[in-house]
Order: sequence, then C-alpha cells, then structure tokens
Amino acid sequence: MRIYNIEVFPLILPMKQDFTISSGSVGAKSQGAPHVYVKVTADNGAIGWGEARPSHRWSYETLETVTSTLTNYLRPALLGANVTDLCTIHSIMNKEIKAGPGSGQPIAKAAVDMAVLDLIGSASGKTLSELWFSAPKTTTQLSYLISTSSPEEAERKALYAKSKQYKGLDVKIGIDPSRDIEILDAVKSAAPDLFLRVDANQAYNVQQAVKLAKRMEQIGIDVLEQPLKANDLFGHAELRRKTCIPIALDESIWTAGDLVQAVRAEACDTVVIKLTKMGGLTGAKLCGDIAREAGLGLLGGGLTESRLGLTASAHLFNYLNIAEPVDLNGPIFLQDDPVHEGPIIEEGHVILPDKPGIGCEVSMEKLDAYRI
Ligand SMILES: [Mg+2]
Repeated sequence: MRIYNIEVFPLILPMKQDFTISSGSVGAKSQGAPHVYVKVTADNGAIGWGEARPSHRWSYETLETVTSTLTNYLRPALLGANVTDLCTIHSIMNKEIKAGPGSGQPIAKAAVDMAVLDLIGSASGKTLSELWFSAPKTTTQLSYLISTSSPEEAERKALYAKSKQYKGLDVKIGIDPSRDIEILDAVKSAAPDLFLRVDANQAYNVQQAVKLAKRMEQIGIDVLEQPLKANDLFGHAELRRKTCIPIALDESIWTAGDLVQAVRAEACDTVVIKLTKMGGLTGAKLCGDIAREAGLGLLGGGLTESRLGLTASAHLFNYLNIAEPVDLNGPIFLQDDPVHEGPIIEEGHVILPDKPGIGCEVSMEKLDAYRI
C-alpha cells in the first residue's frame, strides 16, 4: 500500500470567543482560527485524515507555511512511499524539511503523521489503541480553559466550570501580569476543589517567576506551566529548587532530544504532551513513553485543534494513561469544524469513537465551506 495522493485544505474555522495568551491573540471571534486538514489517499483507495493548527503567537508556523510546506515540499517527496513504513515517512519528511533548533515544521509534519496512522488503522480495521497494543479506553476528562485579564470574568468562568462538573481548570496568566494573583485568587475561591493548572506561556524571567511561585504556594496551585523562555532549562531548574509547586514544560519540549536535555538539567517535574508541536502521534507517543520511564508526570495539551486533532490526541492520552483532565480546548473556542461523525463531546468530557484509525468522518461540504 503506497501513498497515491496528499490533499491539503487550508481552513478558517469560526470561533465562539476570542483566545489570548501572554504573547497575544491565538484566535479571534471576528477572524476565525487557522487550521489545515490533510487527506492522504493510498493506491488501493484507503484514506486517512490529519490536522495542523498553527499559531504564529505560539510558534513560528503559520497557515501559509504549513500549507506551502505540505503542498510544495512534503507532498512531492512522499508520493509513492510505503504507507505502513511510518519510520521512512518521517525520514523523508525530515530530509525534505531539515531540523532547526527543533525538528523543523513539526506542526505541518504532524498532520501527515496523523493522516497516515488514520489510514493504516482504517485500512486494517484497527483502532489506534489496537495499533499500539493497548487496552481501549473511550472516555477522556477535559479541563476548562480560562484566558482573561479580568478577575471578575475569571471568577464567572470558574463558577461555570464547577457547575458543569469539570474536574480541572487551565488558567492562562501573563496576559496582564499585574493582575495574575487577583485572577488566581478569584479562580481558587470560586472553585477550590478543581485541579488548577496555571500556564504562563514563557511570560517571565527567573526572579519574577520565583516571586510569583511563592504567592501561588499560598493560593494552592497544582502545577505551573512554562513560566520562563523555552530555551531556559537552567532557569526552570533554578525555579524548581526554590518552589514546591511542580513545574511543567510545554514550549521547551518539542522532541525526544529536548526531553532528554530537560531530564539532564532537572528542569521539570512534568511534561506537556501535544501532538502538533511533537510532529504527530508518533513523536508525541515517543516523548510520552520516555517521560514516563524517566519518572516525570504527564499533562495533555493541544492547540485548540478541531474534533479531528482532539480525537487523535485523546486516543494517545488514553494510551499514555495521562493525568486527567487534559487541556484539549477546541470545543470551548470553535463554533464548528469539518467533522460530521466522530467523538461525542459533552461539557467536561469526550467519548471517543469506537472506529478504526482516529475514527472521525470528514464532511467535504464543510471543508469547501471553510476553505480559503
Ligand atoms: Mg502550554
């Protein structure tokens, strides 16, 4: 079974609400959100779907670079490749787009990896858990994401999440650093029993982060994610020695090599596993397996993927037995997407489809409607 065609669909999906992190807007209700769907077709007619969700405020990849990388570089190199030889598929992609400090356009490569695994599963009639020789688990708990510079809005959202039986909150800080503590106080008072994950998205230096962490110890924060710049492993190690709050790394860890460096530097307690930044299911699974063996905690995250990327991520998180709830927050922000049959998403949890591959069916009509 060989790759016969790779089709690339750049999309703008409608959003329900704005999404801002410390480095700026990653999606606005007035403009929609950039996503790229990929369809891989094999020479026997079997198909697979993958998704990329770039954000230039989170990393260097954009809707335009993902689309041109897939269309002009990866597609021509991959046509004719053996679909089930995923190692060679990754070698071809990594030869075509070389590594920089990271793995080189991992978000674009993630869409291909996802689509190829979806295709292998669909063609062989196996779910992803069967491909990984693990027991199926169909339900994943989701956290509720709060990103605002208003303590009143943060409190309202925390109360809403509690009323809807969410088990945890993911709070973005550093949007207005002068209000971080007010926001965290308001959230903790409104929902004292929920797991509280606080994500700074690289907003601070070591001195600021140490000061902030001392206040967070009093409030009762469960984990502090990526307080410092991605390349500052020694700063994170220093912070770890000065606070009892577990430190999670997200933007610092894109590859298994990054993870090994973080372990050597004793820079984190927990690693955020994310399909897109890690080049797909294959890279994210490798990082998850290594982190687990290294005795680190695992958190699940995403980049507001639609239901296709969300479902793929949740399958992997279930395989990794990752700490729940996980931050797959597409449903909180997206109004609609091209999946017409897939997971059942309710407030606070997702029930995964019991179908081969990722298990989502994509509507060509909706792809056409949202295509740019
Ligand atoms: Mg993060």
